[in-house]
Amino acid sequence: MYRENAWKKYDEKEEKLVYDFAEGYKDFISVSKTERIAVKEAIKRLNAKGFKNAEEVKSVKPGDKVYFLNRNKNVCAFVVGKEKITSGLRILGAHIDSPRMDLKEHPIYEKNEFALGDTHYYGGIKKYQWVTIPLALHGVVCKKDGSTIEVNIGEDEKDPVVGISDLLIHLSADQLTKTAAKVIEGENLDVTLGNKPLKGEEKGAVKANVLKLLKEKYGFDEEDLVSAEIEVVPAGKARDYGLDRSMVAGYGHDDRSCAYTSLMALLEVNEPEFTSCCILVDKEEIGSVGATGAQSRFFENVIAKLLELAGEKDPLWGARLTMENSKMLSSDVSAGYDPLFPSVSDPNNAAYFAYGLVFNKYTGSRGKSGSNDANPEYYAWVRRVMDDAKVSWQNAELGKVDQGGGGTIAYILGNYNMNVIDAGIPVHNMHAPMEIVSKADLYEAYRGYIAFLTSK
Ligand code: MN
Ligand code: MN
Repeated sequence: MYRENAWKKYDEKEEKLVYDFAEGYKDFISVSKTERIAVKEAIKRLNAKGFKNAEEVKSVKPGDKVYFLNRNKNVCAFVVGKEKITSGLRILGAHIDSPRMDLKEHPIYEKNEFALGDTHYYGGIKKYQWVTIPLALHGVVCKKDGSTIEVNIGEDEKDPVVGISDLLIHLSADQLTKTAAKVIEGENLDVTLGNKPLKGEEKGAVKANVLKLLKEKYGFDEEDLVSAEIEVVPAGKARDYGLDRSMVAGYGHDDRSCAYTSLMALLEVNEPEFTSCCILVDKEEIGSVGATGAQSRFFENVIAKLLELAGEKDPLWGARLTMENSKMLSSDVSAGYDPLFPSVSDPNNAAYFAYGLVFNKYTGSRGKSGSNDANPEYYAWVRRVMDDAKVSWQNAELGKVDQGGGGTIAYILGNYNMNVIDAGIPVHNMHAPMEIVSKADLYEAYRGYIAFLTSK
């Protein structure tokens, strides 16, 4: 159902399904504040649906459900199809990292009797959006003895929160003459951690007190923070947005909204024709680099491992054939048309809230640079799948030509010579601490992803 408002097609029963689905999603993103937690939450749901860790499996046959875990930050799950695996997969790929601030390796310092945490921002952020809001700390501290300590401060209502200060309006005459990019500078995104000196300590007593508290609660020393991954993220749960509760406000819709809907779609698949796959990757916001990003060899390796488990004689060559024969939806969010900022979009090629799953034939910037630009033959096939399943869908570009742009993981998988197109959910306030999505779009994406995975 091309370019129609999805709310108009729902009867009372369907509308309830839409709202119920959003409740599950809110639970997921309220907890999944980092890629590690998102992976943990995904595995919890996979296990509950009978998926097995591939490390514990000796062979696979059609109908089997397995997943491969990569360094606790990247997971790839399969439902083995009736057709040979080498005849191609149906892949849903989404990223589970979101823009934020990371604590530096040597983060804690004291200034004017405040203990502060130095950060380095991750991904593209408008820095001024991240001050004067409650922030939480999530992550891991890895100690030399091989143990890993999990840190989670600021989500429980009884927990303290941290935050970044901004100048009071009364003294902002100079600050307000700066451009928005400079109003808050990256090096000033420092988190306030404390203001109470440790008794009996002369110099650096406030910092000493914070370190003492961390030692007591978590058992690590300042030096252990060198090998830590602590992310500073908006504190609090996702909420209904709008008086009609038609939307969800939350942190990390980009791209956990598509990760969740992709994962939930995979969980609904049983004995598909073609092997279904959902891969959740890390590091998209910084270029899909590294061992857990979409450019990692992890994905082709797990396909080879899956083929090995299926008894394939030449799993390496088989993995290449499999990739070439695969079809993929790169499940990533789109810029939702915002009535307050109409000038940046081409209204005929923009993504509208509640109009369903958004297909981007291409993303990129400055003349499609860096985009995947899907083949029209494949796009036509996808349109048929969506229309046959009566999924609401729309097409969009990321804003007007020459207005900016962005990328996704689509081109990376395209490099394996597979058919890929971007398909996701429209978002308002993308990369802000509070992003917005429509419940109807979440539901239509979920339905569209199921239709795709079970397509012939
Ligand atoms: Mn994204
Ligand atoms: Mn993004």
